[in-house]
Amino acid sequence: MSVVEIAPLGGCGEIGKNMTVVRQGGDMLVVDAGLSFPSAEMHGVELVIPDISYLRENAQMLRGIVLTHAHEDHIGALAYCLQHLNVPVYGSELTLAIAKRKITEDSRFDELDLRPFKSGDRIEIGSFEIEPVFVTHSIPDAHAIAIRTGVGIILFTGDFKFDFSPIDGRLSDLARLGELGNEGVTVLLCDSTNIEDPGWCPSERSVQTGFEKIFREAEGRILITCFGSNIHRVQQAFDCAHKFGRKVAIAGRSMDRNTSTAVSVGKLRIPGQTLIRLEDAKSWRNDEVVILTTGTQGEPLSALSLMSRSEYPRLQIEEGDTVVYSAKPIPGNEAAIWQTVNRLVRQGANVIYGSAHSIHVSGHGYQEEIKMMVSLTKPQYIAPVHGEPRHQFRFKKIAEQMGYQEDNLIIMENGDHLIVTQDEAYFSEPVPCGRVLVDTSGTPGVSDDLLRDRGNLASSGIVFINVAIDSDAGKLIGKPEVLSRGLHVLDGELSALTEHLQTELAKLDHADLRDTSSLQQEIGELARAFLKQQSNRRPMVVATVTDV
Ligand SMILES: [Zn+2]
Ligand SMILES: [Zn+2]
Repeated sequence: MSVVEIAPLGGCGEIGKNMTVVRQGGDMLVVDAGLSFPSAEMHGVELVIPDISYLRENAQMLRGIVLTHAHEDHIGALAYCLQHLNVPVYGSELTLAIAKRKITEDSRFDELDLRPFKSGDRIEIGSFEIEPVFVTHSIPDAHAIAIRTGVGIILFTGDFKFDFSPIDGRLSDLARLGELGNEGVTVLLCDSTNIEDPGWCPSERSVQTGFEKIFREAEGRILITCFGSNIHRVQQAFDCAHKFGRKVAIAGRSMDRNTSTAVSVGKLRIPGQTLIRLEDAKSWRNDEVVILTTGTQGEPLSALSLMSRSEYPRLQIEEGDTVVYSAKPIPGNEAAIWQTVNRLVRQGANVIYGSAHSIHVSGHGYQEEIKMMVSLTKPQYIAPVHGEPRHQFRFKKIAEQMGYQEDNLIIMENGDHLIVTQDEAYFSEPVPCGRVLVDTSGTPGVSDDLLRDRGNLASSGIVFINVAIDSDAGKLIGKPEVLSRGLHVLDGELSALTEHLQTELAKLDHADLRDTSSLQQEIGELARAFLKQQSNRRPMVVATVTDV
């Protein structure tokens, strides 16, 4: 009897770090290897990647990693995975080009086994056969992935919308999705990001109207900020600039990297001689210049953030500049974005943002597109993924309206272990999963304990205490030394703490004073209790004992 196991290691119950394992007999396949961005309380953490210990335990079974498209939440953990897993990576031409550039810039790899695919290819990977199916999204060359198994087709939609007037003229392969539905889709793992939005997601092309209005009215330079990976948006910015006789310069590493990669594989066409170097922008009049830049999310080191603080040496904001926010805030980034906007306004820029201006559309389908995906593929089971619990449950309600029974709707969390046979689908024991935090060192492994310490330091500060003893004689030498950083010190508090420690330590006997490690612990506890009792604060306390 055929059995297929599906286990998400990321991307279920959250939007980010997408990664799912599919197993059949002795063969395992991973779909996507993405990262997510840290929340505000993760001090110093730059990115979050899935814990891949389950893959490392089963490395001998792993046959490959299949990528749906080149967004960070689908490829951002690839370098980390390939450091531990020696497997081929499958993806479309643009996906692999962006992934390769990113991996080789950030880490050292002697050899990467990258295997490009095209929509409609059928590729044998172990006992699986995979077939990519082209779908429209906010990056070109995105695909749904059909995996043929002994229990039928397991279909990952990847991120998709059904854009019927796409910028590159390439339509989603609806016919093929329908054929797969007729052949027999057993499980559909479907993007649920925009399930709360009724109707249809507007076409990427609708942004053109918003851009043209701005281009007609702007008298100075136009700065457009969008995700560097949003190649369709970048294309529209170039086309619009060309139409209005402006030149385009690029500011920001990821914008530069993504556009040049897209040009190299023919997914971005630069019209005429539109592209100029940022350094040369000064030789053009202000109303002849467009700057494409990163920093839509208020990232502190992005080009736009630096410009807003007058810390970007290559370009300064001027009175009369128009700044176009062609993106939507990712929840959690709002404060940083508004700070950047306010600084830009203060410098005299006209900042254009918000849905009223038609300058941004989502890359994810709304309710009707999701229903269309379900209708075409007619899956036996639906598992909403790429969504938080609220999205997954909303999806379930909508699928019920479409006639699906509760038993055929599967809400998965990361680590869930779904078993699918010809007759049924059920959960088995969960697999190991979790998150791995990466800070500026670039080396993964910032632990939760470390995060807790950073949180405490940030909110309450730190107290250092050094006590000198003569362990042979079993007595204290002088007074304890007390220093603090980041602690709101009340009048006389530190000297009171010193006195208190001295009094309490004097009560210890000879043997207590010889055991330096328990003495350090004792000092820490005394100090913490004292500060809590005095003023209800809990700074981190670091106590050291010097034996002289
Ligand atoms: Zn995406
Ligand atoms: Zn995504």
